Formats: sequence, structure tokens, C-alpha cells
Amino acid sequence: MKAPFNRRRFLTTLGAGIAASQFLPVSSAGEANASETSGNLIPAPSDKLYPVDIRKVRAGGEIGRRIGVTVHNNLLKIDIDNDFLHSFVNRDISNEGFVGLGMLLDATVKLAANTGDDKVVSLKNHLVSEIIKSQESDGYIGNMRPPSRMRKLWDVHEAGYIIYGLVNDFRLFSDSGSLMAAEKAAQYLIANWELLDESWEESTNVASHVAITGIHRTMLALFEVTGKSEFLEFCLKQHNLRKWNPGIVTGRRNLIVGHIYGYMASSLAQLELYRLRADKQLLQPAKLALDFLTLQNGMAITGGAGQVEIWTDDLDGRGQLGETCATAYQIRVYDNLLRLTGDFIFGDLMERTVFNALFGAQSPDGRHIRYFTPTEGPRVYHNTDTYCCPNNYRRIVADLPSMMYYTMAGGMAVNLYTASEAEVNIDGLAVAVKQETEYPGNGKVVISISPPEPVQLRVRLRRPAWCNSLTVQVNGLPITEGTASEKFIDVDRTWEKDDRITLNMDMDWRLVKGRQRQAGRVAVMRGPLLYCMNPAQDSQLEGIDGADLGKIIIDRASIEKLPVQETSTRPEGTGCSLKAGKSEWGMGNPGNLSLVLSEFTDPDGKCTYFKTPDMSDGVDDELIQQTL
Ligand SMILES: [Zn+2]
Repeated sequence: MKAPFNRRRFLTTLGAGIAASQFLPVSSAGEANASETSGNLIPAPSDKLYPVDIRKVRAGGEIGRRIGVTVHNNLLKIDIDNDFLHSFVNRDISNEGFVGLGMLLDATVKLAANTGDDKVVSLKNHLVSEIIKSQESDGYIGNMRPPSRMRKLWDVHEAGYIIYGLVNDFRLFSDSGSLMAAEKAAQYLIANWELLDESWEESTNVASHVAITGIHRTMLALFEVTGKSEFLEFCLKQHNLRKWNPGIVTGRRNLIVGHIYGYMASSLAQLELYRLRADKQLLQPAKLALDFLTLQNGMAITGGAGQVEIWTDDLDGRGQLGETCATAYQIRVYDNLLRLTGDFIFGDLMERTVFNALFGAQSPDGRHIRYFTPTEGPRVYHNTDTYCCPNNYRRIVADLPSMMYYTMAGGMAVNLYTASEAEVNIDGLAVAVKQETEYPGNGKVVISISPPEPVQLRVRLRRPAWCNSLTVQVNGLPITEGTASEKFIDVDRTWEKDDRITLNMDMDWRLVKGRQRQAGRVAVMRGPLLYCMNPAQDSQLEGIDGADLGKIIIDRASIEKLPVQETSTRPEGTGCSLKAGKSEWGMGNPGNLSLVLSEFTDPDGKCTYFKTPDMSDGVDDELIQQTL
């Protein structure tokens, strides 16, 4: 996360308007206005959708499989005592270092709650008890020696996530000891915040909003569970989160100011604060980010974004594309905006990102996690279990069960299609819901709705933007079909036990036109899934660089879906065969190669964009649209 620092050049280049010090104490940031920031909170308009408790959702399908391998082949296999807890038990670090213990705790708490697995619950209890034992009498939780506390990277960052994990332990397991420790640790941070004076960014070379990523959601979570105003005031007064709006800065530079993960984490906290204080300013950074991602070439076709952790708009597919932390926080922002607006474009963005960028960041067996997931050239795994990306991966996978179903006034919505079972509480009535489907392998989804007694409800189904045609039946009888422009379909009726909706979404192969560095080529997609080419299948492709593989010309008419098979990606993995030409010399006459494309999560995939003899075979990416 380090970059060479030259403050004068930074201010000249960017202007003081986006100086990163907006989160330093307000006395130095000059934004204090006590009368404006305290008391009289204006309630925000209600959300359109509400999440379902992760303890009430059992994910199956590929999402469930990813949760399973993350638990059994990753979380339960890593050396938590040595790699994570050791330095916190000893508190002997003097220089910057990042472990990710707080993120790991948060992931473990949620995975324990979702799976109920005894081993995960024991691990969670072990982490909580060791962390609480390590807390100093002044409230400090961390791994630093006293002179390094607060000011050394990434002490505040780490503490913020530990507190967040403890608060979630209270929320999900009613552990009051966790809440007490969390409050005390947060009060330590608030009391010592003045240590982070104007010289702090200069000494760390990192913008303050990046160095303290996560702290605002932590304080807002504490405010929510305790009602104590000091935690809200931290966001309003000490930080002025309302006014934070650094703009989109592209390209890695001093202070890593264009850091996507840091930006999305602050934006997410602003969206949460918006529920408490309906100030439109709080929505602006999210709008800027969404516009950049969808309309200004900020988002790769996988859903991932950025190079070397930083906003970029050239759509370079190589190397350090799509930091996993950024991917995780994009998904959270989409979830938050889906709840706020009820607009299912955010569900479309979620599924694209989850099934491609996110799952592409993990080995198929779950053990290894990537920092970056390129679309072109070799992909590598992160070499430790610690640090930001592996732990933010574990956290977001643990959050996915909360993004499948949502409740709304008079009913519920189905957002992520995947085999699953849930108990959804609608106006006090526990309604059992079940999805049976091979999605995303095909577009048939059978949804059973079982209320304890007959009840009138609206069931809203997301209509994906990629889907041109679909049918909906209830108990075998067709219902009126919505129009193609609609983003959802409502089924209103009196539901009885085991009533079934059968949704059949046509899932055609499509060639999505590349832009920027991918211009003049197309990517192969089907439904939410992106496909890629693993060159190990043909000796003619051996040793060809990822960029040169993009010269291959594919024949649209020859694409054929392969039967569901065991592939390198997942048990029900899909793929296609097609005819292709090896270089642009064959334009108009592809056919000297017979290729198989696998799902993008194929760890040895090295190419996702291809030439086509006729660019009119291509379609625009359906997610490139105004969202906010
Ligand atoms: Zn990361």
C-alpha cells in the first residue's frame, strides 16, 4: 500500500479541494460546525428493501459451495494462533504491519452464525476470548508497542475491524462481553484521535481515509446497538463524514488517494449515515463512483475495478486488476443501494461481480485467495493468509446469504438466484422460501413459497438486464409476462404451502463488445457468467503471451454449450466449444482451432477477449447504464 511521498507535488497536482486530510480532527480540517452536526437527526425516507438475517438463510448452489470451501478448506485450515493472534497477544510491534485479525474475526462471526458449524463457532469463541484477554486497561486493542499506537499504519484500521467484529458477535450471538470490549476500544480511539494530527499523512504516506478504512461503519454500528451519541458524533463532528467527497482520482500516486477500497468503505458508511440523516450530500460520492464504474469505463467486464488498487478507466486487463477488497466493497455498496432505491440494476451488478470477479479471486478448492484477478495473462494467489484481501474475501462470502432475499412492504423480493432455503419474516409471519435451480448454469429457477397459513403477498423477482425473454408460471399456470424494459416481475396472490413459481430465463450466448484497451474485440458471456480461454488445452497456444492470445478470432455461429461436466472450476461448471482462427491473418476465415471456453473462475484462464470477423455480432455490455 506504500507510495513515495511528496506533499507539495500532491497538493499542486490535485488541488487542496481533494486534500486527503478530510478525516483528520476537524480543528485542522476546518469543517467544524457543532450546531450543524449534533442533535436533530432527520430520519431518511424508508428503504425499499430490507435484508434477511443470515442465520435464516442456507445457501446452496455455487454460492453455498463457495461458503463451504471457504469454511472447510480455508478458514479451518489456516494457522490462526501464529499468523493472526500472536502479535496481538504480545503487542510488541513497532512498525507498520497489517494482519487482518479484525476482518478475520468479522468473517468468522458471520460464518459461525450462517452455518452453525460447531468448529466455526468454537473458532469464533476462541478469537473473541483471546482478543478480549489482550485488551489493555485503557481500552487499547491492537498489536503495537505503546509509542507506536494510533499513529503507525495500520493500527487504527485494524482496531476498527476488530471492534466491528465484536459488535457483530453481540448482534448475532448476544455476547455482551464482546460489546463491552468493543465500546471500550472505540472510546480509546476517540479519546486518542488528536494524535492523528496534520503531520500524520506525511509520516505514513497514506491518505487518512485510506489509513482508517472501516472506522466509520464501526462507529455507526456501535451507535446502532448502544444508542450512545459519542459514536455518532465521531462521524458527524470529529470527522465530518457528511462532507467527505474526494472525487475520483485515477492512477496510483502520492498518498494512494484514488484507493477504491478506501473510497467505497467511506461511501458505504455515508450511505448508512444517510439513513440517520437524510442529507443528499452523503449520496454524492456513491453516485460519482457508480457513474465512473458504469458510464466512464471504471469497471472491467468481470465486475472488478482498478489497477494496483486505484481507480482507472483504461480497462487494462492485465496484472493488478480488481483488488479483492475493492470487489468486496463494490458488492456491499450495490447491496446498500439496492435496499435504498429498490432498483435491481444493483442486483445485476452484484451477480456479475460475485460470479466472476469475486469467485475468480479464489482457487476452485477454496484454499487460495488472490489480491488481483486479471482477465488477461497469468493470475497469481496471495502468498499469505493474512492481509487485507484474503480476509475481506472471507467477510464478503459470509455476507452473501444476506443478499439473496429481501423483505419489502407487503412481501419479499428474490435478488440472487441460487439454490437455497430461507425463512423470511414478512410482517411477523415466518414464510419458508426455497429455490431449486442450477443457476447460473441455466436460467430455470423454481421458487417454493410456504407461509404457515394462506396469506396475500407480493413476490418480486429480479429480471436480469442480460435476459431478453422469460416466462413465469405459478403452480404450472402461466402468468402475465412483464415487458423487457422492466427490472422486476411482481407475482401478487394468496400463497399457500408449497406454491411454486417457475421462472424460465432464456440464457443465450452473447458477445459483449470490448471498450478502451479491449476495443475491437468481444468477450463471450452467457447469463451472468463470463467465459475465458485456458491455453493449456492446445499445444499450438503454448507459450503465447496473454495479450497475443487476444488476437484469436472466434466464430460466433460455432458456439455450442458443453454438457454440464466436472471442469476445473466447479462440479456443475459450464463451458462452450467454438471454432477459432489463431491470428488476425485469418480474419473472415476462422476455423483452424477448436477451442473450449471455461467459466472465468478457471484459475488457468488467460484470455477473455477475442477478435470477431464481424463486430456487428457484438452487443454492448447491458450494465453500462445510468444507475443513480
Ligand atoms: Zn486488499
